[in-house]
Amino acid sequence: MQVLKNILIVGGTHGNELTGVKLIEKWEKRSEKIRDLCPSAQVKLLLANPKAVLLGRRYKDRDLNRSFSEDSLASAESLYETQRAQEINTLYGEKGEKTKTDFIFDIHNTESNMGFCLILSARDPFAMRASAELTHEFPKTRIYFQPEPRAASPYLGTIAKADICLETGPQSHGTIQAEIFETTEKILRRYLELAELWNQGTLQSMPLRKVDVYTQFRDVDFIRDAAGSIRTMIHPALQNRDFEELRPGMPLFRTFDGEDIPYEGAQSVFPIFINEAAYYEKGIAMSLTLKTEELW
Ligand SMILES: [Zn+2]
Repeated sequence: MQVLKNILIVGGTHGNELTGVKLIEKWEKRSEKIRDLCPSAQVKLLLANPKAVLLGRRYKDRDLNRSFSEDSLASAESLYETQRAQEINTLYGEKGEKTKTDFIFDIHNTESNMGFCLILSARDPFAMRASAELTHEFPKTRIYFQPEPRAASPYLGTIAKADICLETGPQSHGTIQAEIFETTEKILRRYLELAELWNQGTLQSMPLRKVDVYTQFRDVDFIRDAAGSIRTMIHPALQNRDFEELRPGMPLFRTFDGEDIPYEGAQSVFPIFINEAAYYEKGIAMSLTLKTEELW
């Protein structure tokens, strides 16, 4: 059994996603309260991108949460986030099998209607077991499985042995909503309680749970002109319908002249991150997932 000895909770990886920023600020003042939930582990807190928090922006020079691939961590680039990623990796990594950190919880917000989305980057036994329990305890929680080769993955969580990224929304960037803040705090506290049960060996013997797993399929961009300017909008029938079924032939986009453009895939998909503001620059209008029912 893999015991979780070192747990890192991260907020402010993106400076304008205020749920995580304010939770870390709150917990730093009374850190014993959060540590008491999982006494068998050393629980640390990190405000990942303090400069972006001060600026009230996602990032200063480049996206910090795209700066943790092995290549980026070895880069000599002087951009603030490249340097900051290397500093975080030295403190809490280093990325790879010998990393100091067993598990990272990274708290994010999205403007999409994602509810409380638990993103797993690997089939880690604790991440699966604990997330399965949470989806049965909290409404609007869903599991998104986004498998990636860990060395090449640019996400902060991948400097630990395993991680969960918590994406909560809809919340406009730069703003904060009480209900999202309070539920995210409850979810994080419950994850730590479950980590304690895991370290005692009891979570492993609890019965498995039936869960819906949404697995990354592919990203879809807006239709754009040669200059890269968008020529379509999310279809109004699709807006806010994250995690709902999109069947072939159903409307996907609408042009500024009112023409509808259907989804032309061969199978049903379940779009998420629909119309996320921060992804316009990344060429992503939504991410398509495939849904399966599994026992976790
Ligand atoms: Zn984020």
